Amino acid sequence: MPGRVIILGCGGSGGVPLIGGGDGRGQWGVCDPAEARNRRTRSSIVIEGGDGRRLLVDTGPDLHRQLLDCGVGRVDAIFYTHTHADHIMGLDDVRGLNRTLGDVLPAYGTAFTLEDLERRFEYAFKPSTAPSFFRPALAPHPILPGEVYEMAGMAVRVFRQDHKVMETLGLRMGDFAYSTDVVEMPEESFAQLQGLDTWIVDCFQRQPHPVHAWLERVLLWVERIRPRRTILTHMGTDMDWAWMHDHLPAGVEPAHDGMIVPLP
Ligand SMILES: [Zn+2]
Ligand SMILES: [Zn+2]
Repeated sequence: MPGRVIILGCGGSGGVPLIGGGDGRGQWGVCDPAEARNRRTRSSIVIEGGDGRRLLVDTGPDLHRQLLDCGVGRVDAIFYTHTHADHIMGLDDVRGLNRTLGDVLPAYGTAFTLEDLERRFEYAFKPSTAPSFFRPALAPHPILPGEVYEMAGMAVRVFRQDHKVMETLGLRMGDFAYSTDVVEMPEESFAQLQGLDTWIVDCFQRQPHPVHAWLERVLLWVERIRPRRTILTHMGTDMDWAWMHDHLPAGVEPAHDGMIVPLP
């Protein structure tokens, strides 16, 4: 079985639509509400290896719905890019994943990330209540950028990204890489991104943004790294799916929730 990536969500921190709007049913910005691919939950992916084992990347506030919608009932490990609320606030639903796995889940992240998680979700790091798992159970595995680790049976290379308000981790598996929540790419991380086939990358909007990559910047990165396929994620209400479909250069495309991407 070839490996694949399931894009659970590709929205910005407030999702699309944002809460609000004249009728209270959402603020869509320039996104067409009639286009289903404009409805975006918070950014997260699942990477499924050739043997069927799965690595979940982040546990955002939409995790429960995302797992059900994408048919993901079981994962083998969790990778945390950083601890912003839109990437961790679904952590309580990890107890459902503990139940299906029947075990504590290894959680990978920097020491800073894991300490912050433990401070905010202390109960998830206590001894587990297996087999009922009435609370989530994570086993922390601190990792360092620049190194390669085995996660869910896959070799994962980790690299540093600059998100201004905090450092985030990008990850690479073979010729696939995932880079959410990044505004500047450190030189040493460009080196890790050479020879990529498929890249899923943060692109919040078309205009410059202080902590997220924007369209022009991503296109400059793409010119430099030259992946065969680039897929934009973490998109806000400025990123209409049809507009992007018509205007992005060849090889660059928007993600949508539920999108399946084959692992190269
Ligand atoms: Zn985010
Ligand atoms: Zn963030």
